Amino acid sequence: MANLADPKNTIEILNKYHIIFQKKYGQNFLIDEHVIRKILNAAGISKEDTVLEIGPGIGTLTQYLCESAGKVIAVEIDRNLVPILENDTLAAYDNVRIINDDVMKIDLKALIDTENGGKPIKVAANLPYYITTPIVMSLLEARLPIENITVMVQKEVAARMQAKPGTPDYGALSLAVQYYSEPYIAANVPVNCFMPRPGVDSAVIRMQLYKDPSVSVRDEKLMFATIRASFNQRRKTLLNGICNSSELSFSKEQVTNAIREAGLPENVRGETLSLEQFALLSDNLKNADSNNI
Ligand code: SAM
Repeated sequence: MANLADPKNTIEILNKYHIIFQKKYGQNFLIDEHVIRKILNAAGISKEDTVLEIGPGIGTLTQYLCESAGKVIAVEIDRNLVPILENDTLAAYDNVRIINDDVMKIDLKALIDTENGGKPIKVAANLPYYITTPIVMSLLEARLPIENITVMVQKEVAARMQAKPGTPDYGALSLAVQYYSEPYIAANVPVNCFMPRPGVDSAVIRMQLYKDPSVSVRDEKLMFATIRASFNQRRKTLLNGICNSSELSFSKEQVTNAIREAGLPENVRGETLSLEQFALLSDNLKNADSNNI
């Protein structure tokens, strides 16, 4: 069986099966063993682990996952790649299950129940960039039994996920990721590690999931609506952002009070608030709301 981290072997498989890269599926295959090892190390994969791989492609990362993990579940949307995985590139492994499906549509809770008795799994992937944020957010929001998610994403997206308050990359994505997990950028990956080369640089980010969210808040939905409102109009004050939100309907007085009770100045901008401060602000807004009822 040919090791696909060697570009010669990847080219051979591409030619043998006349593979045309499907742009609509974000197909950029890895051709660098060093990068693959970074993913395995960051995820801390051992024979004890069951790993879900999203988008195995022709099976490059999957080969290494099969060597290192106890079991691998690989979900690939492109049905043309499935016979190649089953009959050729992963044929030597008996610890892999290949599923031809869209990861956004599959019932992952049921899959983890049947494949791993409901015990926590790890997620590893070189994610398709057209759908990175929806995949990561749905994994986090579903509160699935997942220990960590270690994925290749666009460098800019990784920076936003890990950003701290007051920095240019800080925004709703940073807060959502950091509510559920502790992100850590494990590697920066240049375009020449892929075939074909993507238009942008990439990074490997590991999100270690918390057992419970990192802050407690009375109404999660209200907190995230408040966060979206504050970043929708970045140059406006937090007060104006919340008052102008189409999702929220608080009076100017209610918002002013909630901001003051959170110990913040009236002209504060949302981009400086920590997750804890957003949680407190949202609890104050919730109080204002119930005072009205
Ligand atoms: N893991 C391979 C590698 O590293 O060489 C391929 C990575 S490629 C960036 C992304 C893969 O995800 C492609 O094989 C693509 O067909 C697959 N994919 C795209 N959208 C998907 C979806 N919604 N569900 C499952 N797989 C998807």
